[in-house]
Amino acid sequence: SGSGDPLYRVVLLGDPGVGKTSLVNLFAGLQERDLLEQHGEAAYKRTLSVDGEETTLLVMDTWEPEQPGEESRRRSQCLQVGNAYVIVYSITDRGSFESASELRIQLRRARQAEDIPIILVGNKTDLVRCREVSVEGERWWRGGSDWWDLAPGFLPSCFPLVPGPACGSARGASGAVSPPCSSLAEGRACAVVFDCKFIETSAALQHNVAELFEGVVRQLRLRCGAK
Ligand code: GDP
Repeated sequence: SGSGDPLYRVVLLGDPGVGKTSLVNLFAGLQERDLLEQHGEAAYKRTLSVDGEETTLLVMDTWEPEQPGEESRRRSQCLQVGNAYVIVYSITDRGSFESASELRIQLRRARQAEDIPIILVGNKTDLVRCREVSVEGERWWRGGSDWWDLAPGFLPSCFPLVPGPACGSARGASGAVSPPCSSLAEGRACAVVFDCKFIETSAALQHNVAELFEGVVRQLRLRCGAK
């Protein structure tokens, strides 16, 4: 891919302390010793090769408000500029999970007409003993042929869903078998949840971080026709 290739802006959102900067730094390939004190916005550009094709992402850490009152303006700025969003919470912080839920709603509202990829990330999976947000989620059937695996609390309000059968059991109408819950527990293969993919990561252990950004690229290709 040449120099004329488009650049896709990926914005990280989430409460302070959930690990956004750590995830962005891993994306940028920065080591701890290379880190400089950063003020406000930080953005890193990298070309990723995913499924044999290259895509360039510009990954932006959220703007932290510098002064009280700036927050809402900055936030609405953030909500406008991204081609894709990574909403991060910490699995050890229930409040950050609730914020993530709220952010997703704000984002949908701000970009109503667009089919923007959103990836929900539960970070800090290494801190298993402090887990406050369950990974299991819930399995729901939609009207069609497949299921949605929802992170806990992420019930879409605009679709009529019915609680799904237990993991690993057969589905009534089409006979499709729902996958075992272990795929959820590993945080890799959750189904599309109307506009959310879901993955659990550990920036500390560098677990699933590459997979996260590869997932962003795949979502951009699916939804935005990104090359
Ligand atoms: P941000 O405010 O969302 O950008 O969060 P930071 O990236 O600055 O991380 C906040 C704190 O959490 C720092 O002390 C990080 O070292 C720590 N942290 C980030 N990710 C992880 C993780 O996956 N596991 C653990 N144990 N700590 C993490």
